[in-house]
Amino acid sequence: MRRELGLPAWPERQRQQLEHFRTLLESAPRVLLTWHREQDGELRTPSPWLARIEVFHALAWQHDLQDTALATLLDHPLTRVRGHHPLAAPRPARQPRVQLPAAAIPGELSVSAHATLIDCPYRFFATSGLRLKAREEVKRALEKAEYGTLVHEVLEVFHAGRDGYPAPLPQPLTGAQRDTAIKQLEQVSRQVFDRELEDNFEHRAWLRRWLALVEHYIDWLIGQQAEWRFEAGERTGERRLAGGQLLVGRIDRVDSGLHGAQVSDYKTGAAPKQAPKQAEVDSGEAVQLPSYALLEETAPAAVQYIQLGRINNRNTVRTGSRLDGAALADLSQAVLVRLETVLDEIAAGIPLPAWGDEDTCRYCEMDGLCRKQSWPDP
Ligand code: SF4
Repeated sequence: MRRELGLPAWPERQRQQLEHFRTLLESAPRVLLTWHREQDGELRTPSPWLARIEVFHALAWQHDLQDTALATLLDHPLTRVRGHHPLAAPRPARQPRVQLPAAAIPGELSVSAHATLIDCPYRFFATSGLRLKAREEVKRALEKAEYGTLVHEVLEVFHAGRDGYPAPLPQPLTGAQRDTAIKQLEQVSRQVFDRELEDNFEHRAWLRRWLALVEHYIDWLIGQQAEWRFEAGERTGERRLAGGQLLVGRIDRVDSGLHGAQVSDYKTGAAPKQAPKQAEVDSGEAVQLPSYALLEETAPAAVQYIQLGRINNRNTVRTGSRLDGAALADLSQAVLVRLETVLDEIAAGIPLPAWGDEDTCRYCEMDGLCRKQSWPDP
């Protein structure tokens, strides 16, 4: 691959290194070669080039090239390092807890920033307080050509229609229209993917990956339509918080039913990034669903994840974790009160600790800043 791209491959690199090594040997009348003799308690052998020189020397002159004078020098007391520095030596890094000045609390908080604050306050400090994250417009430009974003768009066009695409099918969709719906969704998918992506191997694989889910999506949709009708896709919402900040977010999908609206969030990621489990949602650990409920002017009847992907090695479209009725009303209220309280506490100077668990830390881009690797007991 490297050769095809015109980049140097290992034989050229090795030839060049040997040339450098020989130039070095031939540049001075006397050369001292050293090697890192031990690593992690394991003995390391010298380079084969060095070994060859030693063997050659031993055969030609009957003694080895080891410099014993150096070992004697190292043992001499005058060679010991006895430094003195006015500043104390740095202490080992610990789990940081930092204050965020009230003026640095963002005036606008996205649903994902809210989730970050709950998952790891220090990460919120770094990404939203210090603003050490990709700028929104750069992020959006990159996301435009991401698999998940394209799937969202396909579903929006399929349900809501758009100029140049087939008109949406009448609701409710029944089993009798299954084949027509599958064909139409496939057509919309091809149009959207073709428009946004280059014709390369990876992008063709994305389209194939999605087309394998189309029939599962239609089956899931037919099951849903007994109770729910698609109303809107990709809708932005906001809520003013008690401290004046704005909680904002983009809702993937809203359906309407007999008892109100159902807000859904699509999850198209691979296994570890799947929707949070029901227990995490119920306990208030995963705040995405209740946050979406807070963005709607009229409280929705239900919020849920829709999982679209390979689950347990099978192409699957299914409803994931879900909240409705009194559980949704109570939890969104509690999540709102907690968010407002925490923002007040941050403004009052309460520090934000780093406490990410394994799942949060695995995808965190701030690990170099919190120095989790060097905490004595993470
Ligand atoms: S690596 Fe973990 S502890 Fe550190 S900021 Fe990220 S989530 Fe928090």
